[in-house]
Amino acid sequence: ATQPYDDTNIFAKILRGEIPNKTVYEDEHALAFHDIDPKAPIHILVIPKGAYVSWDDFSARASEAEIAGFVRAVGHVARDQGLVEPGYRLLANVGAHGGQEVPHLHVHLFGGAPLGPMLA
Ligand code: 5GP
Repeated sequence: ATQPYDDTNIFAKILRGEIPNKTVYEDEHALAFHDIDPKAPIHILVIPKGAYVSWDDFSARASEAEIAGFVRAVGHVARDQGLVEPGYRLLANVGAHGGQEVPHLHVHLFGGAPLGPMLA
């Protein structure tokens, strides 16, 4: 069963412009902004604009255009940040065991230095 989406979550507020963020990229389907508590020299969060709780919810319910747009946005940000050649890491925490704190799908993008075994 799909978890109901709680539109009071912090990323919903960011999408509505109710709280500020340091945006690095935005298009029709996605928004990317700096994490407020960075765990690497570059730590960006990429979120779909649609109301999806998690990777699970998004992969089950989102349209092909939303999925393609989101995946392309993640790739675009990594290239735009100059991370392709040195490399980078993507991470999506899902649910309680995944340690997901904000119930709006987000992919963490880490880079800017050699990374340890785990982050976030
Ligand atoms: P999660 O544990 O849900 O995968 O990660 C949530 C991330 O959101 C954390 O890395 C945390 O630092 C970040 N975060 C929480 N609140 C805010 C906020 O208000 N603004 C920004 N930019 N990041 C936030």
